Amino acid sequence: CGIVGILGSHEVAPLILESLKRLEYRGYDSAGIATIHDGTLDRRRAVGKLVNLSDLLVHDPLPGKAGIGHTRWATHGAPAVRNAHPHRSGRVSVVHNGIIENFRELRQELAAIGLIQESDTDTETVAILANHLLDGGATPEQAVEQTLARLNGAYALLFLFEGEEDLMIAARKGSPLAIGHGDGEMFVGSDAIALAPLTSRITYLEEGDWAVVTRHGAQIKDSAGRLANRPAKTIQIDS
Ligand code: GLU
Repeated sequence: CGIVGILGSHEVAPLILESLKRLEYRGYDSAGIATIHDGTLDRRRAVGKLVNLSDLLVHDPLPGKAGIGHTRWATHGAPAVRNAHPHRSGRVSVVHNGIIENFRELRQELAAIGLIQESDTDTETVAILANHLLDGGATPEQAVEQTLARLNGAYALLFLFEGEEDLMIAARKGSPLAIGHGDGEMFVGSDAIALAPLTSRITYLEEGDWAVVTRHGAQIKDSAGRLANRPAKTIQIDS
């Protein structure tokens, strides 16, 4: 239901948590954060209010300067830790708003080659597919492009990759996403309100866009794979 991503210069878990709080008004049943630290992906997830996630982080901190977070409003799979986002398969971690309409067909196809889901979500299917493509030799960018080509439905997706501390890939189809520009830092949010304390320089992805984000900026492509020029705007939101 809510998505946040940060390529930062400080520890990101507390910042992601703050941004997720700003999205609480949208409603949610569980929440989670994944980060990369020393090249390694790790995650914490909790059912219920964000305070449960922040309590978990107090006892079991999640270091790292790159991370993604999510508040979930379950559509496929009961509200439970194992269904909470971020989902993970191998080197890929992903958060998702919306619904992947053809996930059953994709899940079956992946199960047939031995790639079995742990959760009941439509989202984990996306992580498994992208990781499978990475295993086949694709770069993260190619893996996401080829994954998106297989998805039907409405979604906002944000990917993080093991070993890639300066990379997030975001995609928007039927569910909004905003990219925030910082000073040597970059942000992604399902809503500019989530990013208000972090930056006021925002680029909104257009329908079908996907963006390769590093700390230096975002390279945005349209659904046909052409480079798209989406100017940043300075917005005013009370933080
Ligand atoms: N369909 C996904 C799920 O049920 C995402 C739901 C959401 O937008 O929070 O896990």
